[in-house]
Amino acid sequence: MSNDFRDDAIVLHVKNWQTADKYAVCFTREHGKIRFIVYGGRYPKNVAGRLLQPFAQLSLEVIAGQRIDKLKSCELLEMPQTFDFKQMAYAAVVTELTAIFTEDHQPQPEVYELVKETLLLLKERNPRIVVLSFVLKLLDLVGLAPQVEACGVCGCIIGEEDAWFSPLRGGIICNDCHNEAGEEKFSVGTRRLLANLKSLDFKNPKPFTVKGGELMELEGILYKFILFQTDKPLNSINFLSQMGI
Ligand SMILES: [Zn+2]
Repeated sequence: MSNDFRDDAIVLHVKNWQTADKYAVCFTREHGKIRFIVYGGRYPKNVAGRLLQPFAQLSLEVIAGQRIDKLKSCELLEMPQTFDFKQMAYAAVVTELTAIFTEDHQPQPEVYELVKETLLLLKERNPRIVVLSFVLKLLDLVGLAPQVEACGVCGCIIGEEDAWFSPLRGGIICNDCHNEAGEEKFSVGTRRLLANLKSLDFKNPKPFTVKGGELMELEGILYKFILFQTDKPLNSINFLSQMGI
């Protein structure tokens, strides 16, 4: 039985491999995350090697190998996005998080659609907001959404009052239970922003106002939550904070 397949894919990560080859990680429509070698991919005349750029949307034909799969052929599905520097920095957060929070060969077509729509919307809207919304939607799809309604200690439902967020407990903490260092302020406004961004319709995004303080609070909370989940800093998020964009 052959495990060879053809699928649509978004390129998450590409690196050079040995002297003449490339190694790529992609997220596909039907086969989830895949990784493969492109033999000869570093030669300038190798078409696949040229097409395999981060964020590209390709149709791939992959041959299953004993140790690692290899690319047989690929074609461009969409013309590559022309991102500016800032859009590219945010797009890198999208691809790095997708690679980290998904498993090999676990089909999640809704993750594929989300990544595809996010990369499109990054060009149209404020990339900082789009990526925050992406993060919330992705965490939800991979079963890691932070708990934001019931206190992680006593279980009470938190109403219209300011509260705290514990990356350690993965969710909201009420005022009565708040006592640990490392808990972040989690205001009513920030929770409302979280709900708005989580349900933002990427196909038909409606404009809404965002307060700078709430945006920063939500970013702080989510990026600390992610750091706690991954246990290592993400290159793309470090880069954003170093560039201050
Ligand atoms: Zn509590």
